[in-house]
Amino acid sequence: MSVESVVQAVYLVAAVLFVLSLAGLSKQETARRGVLLGMTGMALALVATVALALDRSERPVGVTAALILFVLLVGAAVGTWRARTVEMTQMPELIALLHSFVGAAAVLVGFGSYLTDPVSSGASGGADGAGETIHLVEVFLGVLIGAVTFTGSVVAFGKLSARLRSSPLLLPGRNWLNLAALVACGGLLWWFLTAGESGLVPLLLMTLVALALGWHLVAAIGGGDMPVVVSMLNSYSGWAAAAAGFMLGNDLLIITGALVGSSGAILSYLMCRAMNRSFVSVILGGFGAGTSAVAQGLPAEQGTYRETTALEVADRLTAARSVIVVPGYGMAVAKAQYPVADLVSRLTARGTTVRFGIHPVAGRLPGHMNVLLAEAKVPYDQVLGMDEINDDFGETDVVLVIGANDTVNPAAQDDPASPIAGMPVLEVWQAREVVVFKRSMATGYAGVQNPLFFRENTAMLFGDAKDQVELIVQAL
Ligand code: NDP
Repeated sequence: MSVESVVQAVYLVAAVLFVLSLAGLSKQETARRGVLLGMTGMALALVATVALALDRSERPVGVTAALILFVLLVGAAVGTWRARTVEMTQMPELIALLHSFVGAAAVLVGFGSYLTDPVSSGASGGADGAGETIHLVEVFLGVLIGAVTFTGSVVAFGKLSARLRSSPLLLPGRNWLNLAALVACGGLLWWFLTAGESGLVPLLLMTLVALALGWHLVAAIGGGDMPVVVSMLNSYSGWAAAAAGFMLGNDLLIITGALVGSSGAILSYLMCRAMNRSFVSVILGGFGAGTSAVAQGLPAEQGTYRETTALEVADRLTAARSVIVVPGYGMAVAKAQYPVADLVSRLTARGTTVRFGIHPVAGRLPGHMNVLLAEAKVPYDQVLGMDEINDDFGETDVVLVIGANDTVNPAAQDDPASPIAGMPVLEVWQAREVVVFKRSMATGYAGVQNPLFFRENTAMLFGDAKDQVELIVQAL
């Protein structure tokens, strides 16, 4: 049996493992198994690819092996270092950065494939001509998607890590600029297909246009829409990988790319639905620059708010029969999930009904809160999604809003001019009492003031969420 056919069989097994991995990742109970299956599939794919590269090597095998080992060691060292040092709160920016690598790899594979696989002109006709044209189109599309993914991901990384301003960049006629870039790419594709041996010039020009397009597309999207952008770039990076698979004639890369591309697209769609936004309006950007006072930089409407203490909150919790905890990004920053889990298990032991209400875009990445709560070993059946719990707030005695802000903002329902108008939110204000844990009166990620803080049944508990929850646990 040739190395080639063994490798193809291993690729097939790896592809099945990737599909099973995705299926496992769709539920918290099976997520760990999903990750293990994915890791196994990736290990098999890596071994098979290295074996194939050695088998096909035109240089002495030792040299090829040494080169591969060198890049693998560099990649593994950098990856291990980053994975060990990254904070949970930095995860979205790390993911954005990793997407940029996929984009850059697709661009490099495209140029490598074009330069090492010299073609005359794709338009020469005949079966070979058609094959060449297809190859050229693969190269062109791979480089195009890769370049858009690369700069788009770099901008998303910059915005998420606060290295770039999170407000949308609104150039005049920005949608026309994007359209012009796409039309230019169409023209360059024609030039590329008919240019014969001088196709490098249109390919380079298109790369520059695509890099600018990726930059502009994501720069025009405001902070509130970053969750969708991250999963959208995830999708782009999948399509870039699939395009690279076509160029390299690698079936596994095509399958994996298509899996990543379509799951990213489905996730983006689900998130748009959770934010009550249309996918197209997100892609076209400009969100977060609405006409409300905050968006215009005017002083936000203020009112009077009531402050409370950890002791008082402990008293309320002792008297409460039903409690809902609504965590947000602040819980991740404070690393408060452990004392929160402790508090909840104590209240549950006393006979209080305690549940968590999770907004689909709470935190800074999809599933952020679920991961933190799973880390703190909170039982899964206590953790409910927004749709499952939103009707129950009216019958709840106390809601603890721990570091959440935009996701519990009533302005999304009451103020049509608010930048987050129409976004579904957790209706915490329906409860008898709401306690908001935060450090100041500062706004959340979307930069919008929150009228919840000024409601009569809301009390503010200022300070670091972890410290305050620990004080409550002590008082209990
Ligand atoms: P927000 O970002 O709206 O608010 C977080 C709150 O936590 C702030 O008001 C902050 O107030 C408080 N906070 C920060 N640190 C601490 C601390 N140590 N202790 C106590 N409080 C703290 O959070 P949400 O989770 O409600 O909303 C998520 C937002 O992020 C949405 O706008 C969403 O669209 C966006 N987003 C979501 C992503 C996702 O995939 N989930 C990805 C990217 C963006 P203060 O500073 O006063 O303490």
